[in-house]
Amino acid sequence: STQIETLEFQAEARQLLQLMVHSIYSNKDIFLRELISNASDALDKLRLEAFRDKELQVDTDDLHIELEVDKEQRTLTIRDNGIGMSRAEVVDLIGTIAKSGTAELLRKLKETKDTAASHDLIGQFGVGFYSSFMVADKVTLLTRRAGESHATQWESSGEGTYTIESVDDAPQGTSVRLHLKPEDAEDHLFDYTAEYKIREIVRRYSDFITWPVKLAVERTENEETKVEFETVNSMKALWARSKDDATEAEFNEFYKHISHDWTDPLEIIQMQAEGTFEYQALLFIPSHAPLDLFMRESKRGVQLYVKRVFIMDDCEALMPEYLRFVKGVVDAQDLSLNVSREILQQDRQIQLMRRRLVKKVLSTVKTMMNDSARYETFWKEFGPAVKEGLINDFDNREAILEISSFASTHHATDQTTLRQYVERMKDGQEHIYYLTGASRSIIENSPHMEAFTAKGYEVLILTDTIDEMWVSSVNEFDGKSFQSIAKGQVDLDPSDKEKTDREDFTDLLAWMTETLKDNIKEVRLTARLTTSPACIVGDSNDVTPTLEKMYRAMGQ
Ligand code: ADP
Ligand code: MG
Repeated sequence: STQIETLEFQAEARQLLQLMVHSIYSNKDIFLRELISNASDALDKLRLEAFRDKELQVDTDDLHIELEVDKEQRTLTIRDNGIGMSRAEVVDLIGTIAKSGTAELLRKLKETKDTAASHDLIGQFGVGFYSSFMVADKVTLLTRRAGESHATQWESSGEGTYTIESVDDAPQGTSVRLHLKPEDAEDHLFDYTAEYKIREIVRRYSDFITWPVKLAVERTENEETKVEFETVNSMKALWARSKDDATEAEFNEFYKHISHDWTDPLEIIQMQAEGTFEYQALLFIPSHAPLDLFMRESKRGVQLYVKRVFIMDDCEALMPEYLRFVKGVVDAQDLSLNVSREILQQDRQIQLMRRRLVKKVLSTVKTMMNDSARYETFWKEFGPAVKEGLINDFDNREAILEISSFASTHHATDQTTLRQYVERMKDGQEHIYYLTGASRSIIENSPHMEAFTAKGYEVLILTDTIDEMWVSSVNEFDGKSFQSIAKGQVDLDPSDKEKTDREDFTDLLAWMTETLKDNIKEVRLTARLTTSPACIVGDSNDVTPTLEKMYRAMGQ
């Protein structure tokens, strides 16, 4: 005595479905991610419920997800033996939209006239179960809740209504059968009946789901064709394991998988946070810089997962630009799968998480300094990027200064940290002296250097483009301010002779200042030269010549 009922979708749901049915969507592949993620959630729930409710007579030994293709009928079925849904749940959960992000998505879509932009928006929010209608013109869902004897079948073509009926017999769990759109049949990009295509999507989006995702494949042996279920995901959520539970080789393999790098990483960083906002992070510092590290489109290397489900690459909300070379995965437990980049940027928990990730990366580098060879490799490859943080990461400026190192007149090849520099400072020396320039030899041969060399003051030799910029925004390290030896007055404890000279030359200096007044501000007697007769210096507030050139090149 089965009775088919036809029900209407709730208004918001209808709106969203319209978008799914009619939009030419750039990345349809994600429908499978959504359905596998639902199946995975259902398995999680069943496991938990079976654990809590000993009365529930269910077998939890073989929980899994199955994918099956019928090429002739052009269907793809996603099946799980998880918790399933009661009839009321199907109506509630599938017929209405209770998701918090949806209202916002719809509001934004209304504001956006540009269709390409609206497709992007949908992509950012994700749409869960309804994304099936991007690839299917009919969806049949059959489900039986664990512990119940009756099953429910739900069917819709994604227009205004759906049908629902009770079914006497069905396996426990849920199956979602997609009747693939005929218009995609000719397009290999959307060939969701192809084994390779399914494998590829699962590997990309659902590889680390902890349940086996089994694909039904036909194998012909001795002219006999059999269907076998083959697990197509690796199930390895390495980040959720403790460092002792996985081998270094496994971590290295994983690194290569996510980074497309061929060499082992320099450093592996693991973090697990419990409590109100639970997350796991597995980060890597590569052993060499990518070619595009200093190109404009250079991407950030951290991927975001939510409960083992891949959400996005290149997650800028998790890592600041100056640490863009850090690769890895962050898996947050309490985020929605539909989270967008915009929402991430504003989320306070995400900001807190980012702060902790950054501190952890910086402290890891600090620890690396105990192993000078590794640290030197790190700094050679990534130092110029890290120094960008001195300009825009005010909170971590101290920490970044601590892990930075520089060429200096102290040693011909070895770099020095600021701490080492400060330890070597002469009695009474108040500043950390530096000179910027295009190369070490240009700086060493600068007339500005003469007096400092003669009097034994150490000078930092700054040759990276970025150095020009941070020295003008960072005031001090350990209470010692940075002082360019090419700017302002430099008083290297003047001798008595120099003091009397100053008086003797007053008239000459006044005359020279007057004569050259169109080109210079002032002519001063100096103690900074030993062999050169004169040199040009900038005012302490002036930009350096190199920076001036950079600004001009940037059109400012
Ligand atoms: P979300 O997963 O973000 O909640 P979806 O649209 O993907 O949104 O799914 C809506 C709801 O339908 C889920 O929260 C879940 O309760 C239910 N559901 C979907 N798929 C399944 C499934 N395979 N088994 C059990 N319940 C499911
Ligand atoms: Mg979902």
